[in-house]
Amino acid sequence: MVQSTELSLFQTQDYLLAISRALSEHLDIESVLRLVLQAATTLTQAEAGLIALYMPDNQVRIVAASGMTLETARQFHSLLQSMFTTGRTQQADWHHPGFRRALLRVARRHGLPFSEVIAMPFEDEGKPIGVLLAFRAAGKVGFTRYELRLLGNFADQAAIAIRNALLVQQLVQQRERMAAILANIADGIVLLNEQSQVELVNPAFAALSGWSPQRVIGLYASQVLVLVNDAGMPLSIPALTGRAARQEGHLIRADGTKGPYVSVIYTPLRMGMGTENKQFGTVVSVHDLSERHQLEAAKRAFIAGVSHELKTPLTIIIGYAETLLRTDAEWDAETIRQGLETIRDEAVHLTRLVDNLLDTARIEAGGLTLALEPLQLESLLGSVVDAFRAAHPDHRFVYEPPDEPMPAIYGDQDRLRQVIHNLLSNAVKYSPPDTTVRVEVWANDQEVGFCVSDEGPGIPRDQQPLIFERFYRRHETAGRTDGAGLGLYMAKALVEAHGGRIWVRSEEGQGATFCVALPQYTEELVRQAQGTRSASHRKESER
Ligand code: ADP
Repeated sequence: MVQSTELSLFQTQDYLLAISRALSEHLDIESVLRLVLQAATTLTQAEAGLIALYMPDNQVRIVAASGMTLETARQFHSLLQSMFTTGRTQQADWHHPGFRRALLRVARRHGLPFSEVIAMPFEDEGKPIGVLLAFRAAGKVGFTRYELRLLGNFADQAAIAIRNALLVQQLVQQRERMAAILANIADGIVLLNEQSQVELVNPAFAALSGWSPQRVIGLYASQVLVLVNDAGMPLSIPALTGRAARQEGHLIRADGTKGPYVSVIYTPLRMGMGTENKQFGTVVSVHDLSERHQLEAAKRAFIAGVSHELKTPLTIIIGYAETLLRTDAEWDAETIRQGLETIRDEAVHLTRLVDNLLDTARIEAGGLTLALEPLQLESLLGSVVDAFRAAHPDHRFVYEPPDEPMPAIYGDQDRLRQVIHNLLSNAVKYSPPDTTVRVEVWANDQEVGFCVSDEGPGIPRDQQPLIFERFYRRHETAGRTDGAGLGLYMAKALVEAHGGRIWVRSEEGQGATFCVALPQYTEELVRQAQGTRSASHRKESER
């Protein structure tokens, strides 16, 4: 008897060791519970057993069986379910002779001739979470006190296994949630260790910086988070201790090129309390500010451009007005007339500029409305060219309207006149006197278009896309001519509002050709235009 107790003591230790190894190794809850059950039944010389769990959704699940199949073990389900559901989960309930008899009846009904059963409940923080049943065959003695203690111990092991599994499950869920947040967040995130080496970056940072998430690991912050200011001077990384720090600048990408303008926030990661409080790394978030930065730069250029353009005519107007008002001088009628003419011309110029600015603002706010009607582009061109021929005798204008009428377009007469006017005045402004400005009209399957060519200096290829930008003026021409750099920007906006296209062809030194193509008038176009108009009306009335 003493011997068998010693033997089972060794066996108990072996099993406990195996269980704790299983707990720390694979942590798969069902195999740990199977091991617990196997140990419990072997050591108490029980014929069979099962473990049932009371799940968070209040359902009982039979998760492990020994000495019988899981299928057979499931026959005890409804009996166990009713115990948990009705809250009969005290020790006395599980050991109640009535309950034990009921268990044995179920067993017998399924061909299991057991005469003894013991139920060992287990709990987590005072809440019943399961029960371990052990059956002994007829003809054997009942469970000894020692065996009951053993069973109780194993039931405790089952409780620990479940608690561990839940913790692991929570950790896995948390890790997955963190990974999902990191993967989907728009800001770049970099995790640095104590030595300021990169431990992890998210896809957004990879996209902003051009670093591949694998290659960047182990590199130092000073290699990966390189910022330069607008002038290209590198900013030094703030000390990564103590408080959070913030920097703004252009991020240098993995290939050494200047990347987006970003704001970078370094937040130290700390653990522990008081003197034990230690920094174990830094989280760096990188927010893309390039759009705002560009907008601010455009705004600065706008204010500088506008104030220059407004100031020039105003200075002239004030100068002439003050001169004419001088009391110490007598002006003859002709001088006064000339002075007033200059004041009027500059005021007209100012009005045009203000109109252009208002139009620009309207275009940008999406509030440009067109008064559309079917038009013959060739006659519109004819009338503008005639006006230019009269106003600019120092240039030759060549325009031959086609013999047959062209297909109609659907446009706003005043706005299209403005576009033609802009292109013709540029042609005159940028080409020397005694040269020819040629205007041609053409049509293809869907469009009617025109081109304006001059014999001026042309526009270098690399600048061609830029001249359509707001306030863009070429250095080479800006000094000699007046203008605000709004003409082509507005021409493009107006043409595009008509659903058309505008482009330039030019070789430096060989003149420039600007072309515009507009869609031909169709019923479909009218319907589309009415659709957009009513949509924009709706938008207006919603405001
Ligand atoms: P602005 O004429 O007021 O400067 P635009 O937007 O009309 O503004 O034109 C932008 C720039 O494009 C001009 O400053 C000029 O350098 C260039 N440009 C426009 N038209 C011509 C042309 N026909 N020939 C040469 N350069 C031109």
